[in-house]
Amino acid sequence: MTMGLFSSKEFNSMDDLFLDQIQDLYDAEKRICDALPKMADAASSPQLKQAFRDHLQETMEQVNRLERVFNELGKTAQRETCEAMKGLIQEGEEMVNAGGDPDVKDAALIAAAQRIEHYEIAGYGTARTFAQRMGLHHIADLLQETLNEEGAADHRLTDIAEQSVNVQASHH
Ligand code: FE
Ligand code: ZN
Ligand code: FE
Ligand code: FE
Repeated sequence: MTMGLFSSKEFNSMDDLFLDQIQDLYDAEKRICDALPKMADAASSPQLKQAFRDHLQETMEQVNRLERVFNELGKTAQRETCEAMKGLIQEGEEMVNAGGDPDVKDAALIAAAQRIEHYEIAGYGTARTFAQRMGLHHIADLLQETLNEEGAADHRLTDIAEQSVNVQASHH
């Protein structure tokens, strides 16, 4: 174990790497569960509020799905700090706490939320592909299910931005 800013990981097999990736996603999802209610409260657009609330419900199920993955791997569910998600959520908090015009603030919340969704899409896509390669087909299916939800959440935010929030925000 080296001393320093980053603790060193050791990867001797795809099993080690896969578990690391799942622990990172598990931490990320738990952080998102804490962040989404604040984003829903901060949103002014009823559509945007509802999108955040709906995705909170999905995210809680995504946490359960990862717990099923740990269980199928014969491991206890464990978080490993996702530094990137910490940072993305910190940027989201800046938008939550921002003052100014409510419509522009909604556009800012969407900007932060879509960064979060895209990061999740990258993480789940990689983990799903690892699971397929490792012959963990049921686990790959679980990860694909979440990946589909993240894609749909991102798409819904794009629609809300294009059809209403950005239009309103541009009137100021
Ligand atoms: Fe998620
Ligand atoms: Zn991460
Ligand atoms: Fe960049
Ligand atoms: Fe998500």
